[in-house]
Amino acid sequence: MMQQYIEEAEKALLHTYNRYQVVLDKGDGVNLYDIEGKRYLDFVSGIAVFALGYNNKAYNDALKAQIDKLIHTSNYYYNVPTIEAAKKLKKVSGMDRIFFTNSGAEAVEGALKAARKYAYLKDGKTDHEIIAMNHSFHGRTMGALSVTGNPKYREAFEPGIGNIKFAEMNDFDSVLAKVTDKTCAILFETVQGEGGIYPATQEFMEKVRALCDEKDILLILDEIQCGMGRTGYMYAWQKYGVKPDIMTTAKALGCGVPVGAFLMTEKVGQNSLVAGDHGTTYGGNPLAGTAINKVLDLFEEYNIIEHVREVAPYLEQKLDGLAAKYDYILTRRGAGLMQGLVCKGPVSGIINRALEKGLILINAGTDIIRFVPPLVITVDNVDEMIEILDACFAECAE
Ligand SMILES: *Cc1c(COP(=O)(O)O)cnc(C)c1O
Repeated sequence: MMQQYIEEAEKALLHTYNRYQVVLDKGDGVNLYDIEGKRYLDFVSGIAVFALGYNNKAYNDALKAQIDKLIHTSNYYYNVPTIEAAKKLKKVSGMDRIFFTNSGAEAVEGALKAARKYAYLKDGKTDHEIIAMNHSFHGRTMGALSVTGNPKYREAFEPGIGNIKFAEMNDFDSVLAKVTDKTCAILFETVQGEGGIYPATQEFMEKVRALCDEKDILLILDEIQCGMGRTGYMYAWQKYGVKPDIMTTAKALGCGVPVGAFLMTEKVGQNSLVAGDHGTTYGGNPLAGTAINKVLDLFEEYNIIEHVREVAPYLEQKLDGLAAKYDYILTRRGAGLMQGLVCKGPVSGIINRALEKGLILINAGTDIIRFVPPLVITVDNVDEMIEILDACFAECAE
């Protein structure tokens, strides 16, 4: 049955993904089930999206109620769920102004536009530069792709938006070397995701912030993957005591309903995008607003941040144990429930083996196994995951 669906999919869908050979049917908590009823323990959560776990009743009920009421209005009218969502998101982020989008890439697009407009209002010029980082990932649309520090993703689609320079994450001097009087923004992920799970260092964060303050350059932090409690802070930058001028969020923000946002300080809000500068048909519609609202409520109700801080050290300890046991694993790195096992070679064999044994994992680059589980995982879930993964490494080592 599964094979037939896979063949049909490969005839109809554009082949932009090498998909795993499984057709998923339903989810419950931290488990997924395929259409043949096989259970999988999920340590991917749809790439850091389903933070609350699958089939959460309170979340589902809120969405169902809103579907029966009103799904869409366009942004020419106000709606209560999105107003409530904006108030709550301001509170947890400490930012002042929000624009809701439908995806992460769109949030990045908006952030880039806000930064360019801010600079344009200062000097009336249109030659401003943005510094992004090597190994970064910001999405697949042309603007977001242009600031993505992976030439392999960009090459066939050049030229990008232009005036982008790349520096090295956590190497302040490499950033400084790229700064000119045209630089309008410095952009990076507080914890790099796709590029290999590299958290920013405290020193890098502080020095970049000081540089931005000195030269009135905007600091844009992409929190699309590392935000929403994943590192044990609502937004990863909050740990550093370094606040961005603009930040992006998405993935777990809607826990499955496609939403994103870019947020800014009042200073940027008052000196950048105005009516007519930016828009979206769907962004922040009542259904999206309801999803964000409920997600933020449930984060509080379940004490998600505290929970991540409790369970993450256990995950780290267990992954370190595996790293010590197998030569194939070079090291572990990450923050909170965003972890990577850095291996000596490709990890696709291990990941496929895990899938056969009922464990869903994903890579970050070819050599890193990435762990971005639902934030509600327990130590028992960690134990089950480690047991399966241990068996996979043991078999591969044979
Ligand atoms: C996933 C991701 C994006 C892109 O989000 P989409 O919703 O896929 O467009 C951008 N930045 C980071 C850090 C991401 O992890």
